[in-house]
Amino acid sequence: MNMVFNCHQERRYMMEKQEHLCNWIPIAIPFDRWHVSPPPFGHWLYGFFPILAPFVLKFYDALSFFQCPLSFVMNSNKAKSTFPTLNEKDIKYCAVFYEAQHNDARTNIAIALSAAEHGAAIANYVEMIQTITDPTTGKVIGVQALDRMTGRTFAIKAKRVVFAGGPFTDRLREMEVLGSDNQMQPAVRGAHGTHIVLPGYFCSHEVSRTTTATATATTTTTFVLNATSHASYHHPQATLLLSFCRWGFWTIIPATDASCSSFHGKDIL
Ligand SMILES: Cc1cc2nc3c(=O)[nH]c(=O)nc-3n(C[C@H](O)[C@H](O)[C@H](O)COP(=O)(O)OP(=O)(O)OC[C@H]3O[C@@H](n4cnc5c(N)ncnc54)[C@H](O)[C@@H]3O)c2cc1C
Repeated sequence: MNMVFNCHQERRYMMEKQEHLCNWIPIAIPFDRWHVSPPPFGHWLYGFFPILAPFVLKFYDALSFFQCPLSFVMNSNKAKSTFPTLNEKDIKYCAVFYEAQHNDARTNIAIALSAAEHGAAIANYVEMIQTITDPTTGKVIGVQALDRMTGRTFAIKAKRVVFAGGPFTDRLREMEVLGSDNQMQPAVRGAHGTHIVLPGYFCSHEVSRTTTATATATTTTTFVLNATSHASYHHPQATLLLSFCRWGFWTIIPATDASCSSFHGKDIL
């Protein structure tokens, strides 16, 4: 619940600050039965999700203080006409709720350019390869950097060094010189999975849907209503959530479903 609340806050912040780079995505979850058995995620309550969904989604709206577009119920006739390629004949209804999407690459560039406008020095393809430590205090006072384009190394002095390395943050923290009895504890919980890129027509502008090849009585499928579409497929036995996301001309199906070491993978730049 805390995570959903924080996601709402983050979405609202992004929608306000970067309105031109963000958009709401209506996500429709079609139900073809009133009870799901065996229940998703192995909990009996989730078996009643087809009945509870509209109420759960209202609670979801409430966690945003009703700041996101409100969830609603789409009746079966409307669902069938909105999603003409819908395979399920016994569609009961669709529960529709809203998430948000932003163009992360453009957001990053916007942040970097804004920082530069306010006097920051910015660089691409420059890798931190070591911390610089004050020998008397033991504090980090800068980093040694490698320009990957030229091979040149140079020092950057700083009052504060922030390790914003995403999944690679522990590898950056490893470069801090710690006392012998001050072993670094990993801070990142890694996850890896399968990411499939399909042609865009798997997730059309009008409707996007999931494959029903593995659909079972316990399947939840979600569809999207517009060009920035997003759909998901839930496989309860594997407790796996797959999303069909429209991105440009392509359909992306990302899944980060398995834990891994945060030190997984070596090539970062
Ligand atoms: C396929 C996929 C789908 C995702 N979907 C979603 C989603 O739908 N919603 C959501 O909220 N999140 C999603 N995420 C997670 C989200 O992308 C990350 O949480 C977010 O990008 C983390 O941002 P960050 O700035 O902390 O790290 P990053 O974006 O990972 O940035 C870290 C940067 O540090 C750089 N770096 C590393 N080491 C060094 C070094 N030594 N020197 C210099 N630079 C270095 C890296 O090159 C990288 O550019 C998804 C992630 C993946 C992989």
